[in-house]
Amino acid sequence: MTACLFCQIVARQSPADIEYEDDEALAFRDIYPKAPVHLLIIPKRHIESVMALSPEDAAVVGRLVLVAQRIGKAKGFAERGYRLAINCGPEGGQDVYHLHLHVLGGRSLTWPPG
Ligand code: AMP
Ligand code: ZN
Repeated sequence: MTACLFCQIVARQSPADIEYEDDEALAFRDIYPKAPVHLLIIPKRHIESVMALSPEDAAVVGRLVLVAQRIGKAKGFAERGYRLAINCGPEGGQDVYHLHLHVLGGRSLTWPPG
Protein backbone atom coordinates (compact mmCIF):
# COMPACT_ATOMS: atom_id res chain seq x y z
CA MET A 1 0.00 0.00 0.00
CA THR A 2 1.26 3.47 -0.85
CA ALA A 3 2.48 5.68 2.00
CA CYS A 4 0.75 8.72 0.52
CA LEU A 5 -2.56 9.49 2.24
CA PHE A 6 -4.11 11.14 -0.80
CA CYS A 7 -3.03 8.28 -3.11
CA GLN A 8 -4.77 5.99 -0.61
CA ILE A 9 -7.93 8.09 -0.95
CA VAL A 10 -7.70 7.83 -4.76
CA ALA A 11 -7.35 4.04 -4.41
CA ARG A 12 -10.26 3.87 -1.92
CA GLN A 13 -7.87 2.44 0.66
CA SER A 14 -8.64 5.35 2.97
CA PRO A 15 -12.09 6.90 3.51
CA ALA A 16 -13.08 10.36 2.29
CA ASP A 17 -16.25 12.28 1.49
CA ILE A 18 -15.77 12.39 -2.26
CA GLU A 19 -17.62 15.21 -4.02
CA TYR A 20 -16.33 14.88 -7.58
CA GLU A 21 -14.26 12.51 -9.68
CA ASP A 22 -13.08 12.34 -13.26
CA ASP A 23 -10.27 10.52 -15.04
CA GLU A 24 -7.59 12.91 -13.77
CA ALA A 25 -8.89 14.59 -10.63
CA LEU A 26 -10.66 13.86 -7.37
CA ALA A 27 -12.34 16.29 -4.96
CA PHE A 28 -13.20 15.47 -1.37
CA ARG A 29 -14.06 17.29 1.85
CA ASP A 30 -11.24 18.46 4.05
CA ILE A 31 -11.39 16.51 7.30
CA TYR A 32 -10.68 19.66 9.38
CA PRO A 33 -12.71 22.30 7.52
CA LYS A 34 -11.56 25.91 7.90
CA ALA A 35 -14.74 27.28 6.30
CA PRO A 36 -18.32 26.04 5.73
CA VAL A 37 -17.13 24.81 2.32
CA HIS A 38 -13.65 23.29 2.39
CA LEU A 39 -12.78 20.89 -0.37
CA LEU A 40 -9.47 19.54 -1.60
CA ILE A 41 -9.01 18.91 -5.31
CA ILE A 42 -6.13 16.64 -6.23
CA PRO A 43 -4.64 15.09 -9.34
CA LYS A 44 -5.12 11.32 -9.23
CA ARG A 45 -1.51 10.94 -10.29
CA HIS A 46 0.93 11.52 -7.44
CA ILE A 47 2.69 14.88 -7.74
CA GLU A 48 4.46 15.97 -4.55
CA SER A 49 4.03 19.70 -4.66
CA VAL A 50 4.18 22.78 -6.86
CA MET A 51 7.96 22.52 -6.60
CA ALA A 52 7.85 19.09 -8.26
CA LEU A 53 5.80 20.28 -11.28
CA SER A 54 7.19 20.00 -14.78
CA PRO A 55 5.87 21.64 -17.96
CA GLU A 56 3.99 18.43 -18.84
CA ASP A 57 1.87 18.91 -15.70
CA ALA A 58 0.39 22.22 -16.90
CA ALA A 59 -2.82 20.61 -18.15
CA VAL A 60 -3.54 18.71 -14.97
CA VAL A 61 -2.93 21.80 -12.82
CA GLY A 62 -5.34 23.73 -15.06
CA ARG A 63 -7.83 20.90 -14.65
CA LEU A 64 -7.80 21.32 -10.86
CA VAL A 65 -8.86 24.96 -11.21
CA LEU A 66 -11.58 24.07 -13.71
CA VAL A 67 -12.88 21.38 -11.35
CA ALA A 68 -13.10 24.06 -8.63
CA GLN A 69 -15.11 26.25 -10.99
CA ARG A 70 -17.42 23.36 -11.85
CA ILE A 71 -18.03 22.34 -8.24
CA GLY A 72 -18.65 25.99 -7.29
CA LYS A 73 -21.39 26.22 -9.90
CA ALA A 74 -22.88 22.81 -9.06
CA LYS A 75 -22.97 23.37 -5.32
CA GLY A 76 -24.21 26.94 -5.60
CA PHE A 77 -21.42 28.86 -3.91
CA ALA A 78 -19.97 30.34 -7.09
CA GLU A 79 -22.01 33.55 -6.88
CA ARG A 80 -20.77 34.40 -3.40
CA GLY A 81 -17.20 33.60 -4.31
CA TYR A 82 -14.52 31.41 -2.81
CA ARG A 83 -10.80 31.16 -2.35
CA LEU A 84 -8.44 28.73 -4.07
CA ALA A 85 -5.14 28.06 -2.34
CA ILE A 86 -2.16 25.78 -2.78
CA ASN A 87 0.26 25.55 0.13
CA CYS A 88 3.80 24.97 -1.06
CA GLY A 89 6.56 23.45 1.05
CA PRO A 90 7.35 23.83 4.76
CA GLU A 91 7.00 27.59 5.12
CA GLY A 92 3.97 27.58 2.84
CA GLY A 93 2.19 25.33 5.31
CA GLN A 94 2.10 22.18 3.19
CA ASP A 95 1.45 19.15 5.40
CA VAL A 96 0.42 16.56 2.81
CA TYR A 97 2.93 16.05 0.01
CA HIS A 98 0.45 15.22 -2.73
CA LEU A 99 -0.47 18.35 -4.67
CA HIS A 100 -3.88 19.71 -3.66
CA LEU A 101 -5.96 22.78 -4.29
CA HIS A 102 -7.95 24.04 -1.31
CA VAL A 103 -11.41 25.41 -2.10
CA LEU A 104 -12.71 27.57 0.73
CA GLY A 105 -16.10 29.23 0.74
CA GLY A 106 -19.33 29.89 2.56
CA ARG A 107 -17.96 32.74 4.65
CA SER A 108 -16.17 36.00 4.04
CA LEU A 109 -12.48 35.35 3.47
CA THR A 110 -9.98 38.17 3.38
CA TRP A 111 -6.36 38.01 2.38
CA PRO A 112 -3.86 38.73 3.70
CA PRO A 113 -5.12 37.96 7.21
CA GLY A 114 -5.07 40.49 10.02
P1 AMP B 1 -1.91 21.32 3.48
O1 AMP B 1 -1.61 21.88 4.84
O2 AMP B 1 -2.08 22.36 2.43
O3 AMP B 1 -0.95 20.21 3.08
O4 AMP B 1 -3.35 20.69 3.58
C1 AMP B 1 -3.59 19.38 3.96
C2 AMP B 1 -5.06 19.32 4.28
O5 AMP B 1 -5.43 17.96 4.30
C3 AMP B 1 -5.42 19.90 5.66
O6 AMP B 1 -6.35 20.96 5.48
C4 AMP B 1 -6.02 18.72 6.40
O7 AMP B 1 -7.10 19.10 7.21
C5 AMP B 1 -6.44 17.80 5.26
N1 AMP B 1 -6.49 16.39 5.57
C6 AMP B 1 -5.59 15.65 6.25
N2 AMP B 1 -5.97 14.37 6.31
C7 AMP B 1 -7.14 14.29 5.63
C8 AMP B 1 -8.05 13.23 5.32
N3 AMP B 1 -7.82 11.96 5.72
N4 AMP B 1 -9.16 13.51 4.61
C9 AMP B 1 -9.41 14.77 4.22
N5 AMP B 1 -8.59 15.80 4.46
C10 AMP B 1 -7.48 15.58 5.16
ZN1 ZN C 1 0.06 10.72 -3.51
